[in-house]
Amino acid sequence: MNASPPSLSPRCWAEIDLGALERNLRAIRAHLPAGIRYVAVVKADAYGHGLTAVVSRLLQAGVDALAVADVREGTRIRELAGGWPVLVLGPVLPGEEGRLLAADLTPTVSSAAEVARFARAADREGRRLPVHLNVDTGMGRLGAWYEEAGAVLEALLGEPALRLAGVYTHYSDAAHSPAFTRLQRDRFLAFLHDQRERLRPGGDLLVHADNSAGTEAFVPDSPVNAVRVGLLQYGIRQYGDSVFERVRVAPVFRFAARVGLVKELPAGVPVSYGRTFTTSRPTRTAVLTVGYGDGLPTTASNRAEVLLRGKRCPVIGRVTMDQTIVDATAVPEVQPGDTAVLVGDQDGRTISVEEFAEWCGAIPWEVFTSLSARVQRVYPAARA
Ligand SMILES: *Cc1c(COP(=O)(O)O)cnc(C)c1O
Repeated sequence: MNASPPSLSPRCWAEIDLGALERNLRAIRAHLPAGIRYVAVVKADAYGHGLTAVVSRLLQAGVDALAVADVREGTRIRELAGGWPVLVLGPVLPGEEGRLLAADLTPTVSSAAEVARFARAADREGRRLPVHLNVDTGMGRLGAWYEEAGAVLEALLGEPALRLAGVYTHYSDAAHSPAFTRLQRDRFLAFLHDQRERLRPGGDLLVHADNSAGTEAFVPDSPVNAVRVGLLQYGIRQYGDSVFERVRVAPVFRFAARVGLVKELPAGVPVSYGRTFTTSRPTRTAVLTVGYGDGLPTTASNRAEVLLRGKRCPVIGRVTMDQTIVDATAVPEVQPGDTAVLVGDQDGRTISVEEFAEWCGAIPWEVFTSLSARVQRVYPAARA
């Protein structure tokens, strides 16, 4: 579909289909057993889709909690998400406790030192702060190492100013190693079992491990009662063998630019910086108003393709800061002002985020979050 560009005619833009986002969320939720709660991951500006627009739509469609990267992002959505738990997945830096409390955010706790720091801050304000304990079962990033997490839990429960609202772990290789993921899950379940007296499972405690690559079978007696979903709700499925394998999701994101100039070059002409491409025949080129300053990396030079009037055209030469050149010889009717699609559909043809990511030597998460601030996010009503 050749969607009409937004009225301000930006050089390039990202179209976000909030209707598709909502349908994806509903499809994922429908796939989960009743009672499994949904923590929507909206960190990094909702994976580049635009934090406030995405959060408004997700809340409308029905989520149980939101997860952000840091206090700043949490603060940005607090008013919008009045009453909803907002979990901060990343570390809360020393000095940010006041802002955390003011925005009523839920921090992740990894250590006894953090327990003490959060307790002090909450105590000072006469508040009881909800926290989630992160148990490191093999990610090697945040969390208390699982063999030491019992002591952190004990310290936490000994602080009247803190309230344990959740316990979670994070898988490091769910996509590629079922065996290591099983090991991580077994460590997590063993921890939950060992600590069952302290944890009072069955209450309102959120217990979660699975992201978009989730592998949990959600057997009825599992203490795991929530998921943390990011990529999948934005319509990208990376892994075949996840619990979400049969959920049908659709892309939410479309990335487009304009044709700024159409030009005929003779054979033997070098194209762009560094002369990494030379025309081998008379070539019609289209110069697109998108470059690495927008999030199309130079690694896509001489590799990526774009859709022009529904036809695939290769990027030739190096991607530059503001412009990128494609071979449009196969599209005689191409004109300045045309829409070129870098990711998404046009006239029945599609370039997927996965394909685009491969050309860029990146992963889909990275494609989304690499779009720069000058790429306008638009939310077409017709598509929503
Ligand atoms: C980013 C993140 C997620 C979401 O991962 P997806 O693969 O995008 O679903 C879940 N949990 C944590 C701790 C994360 O950092």
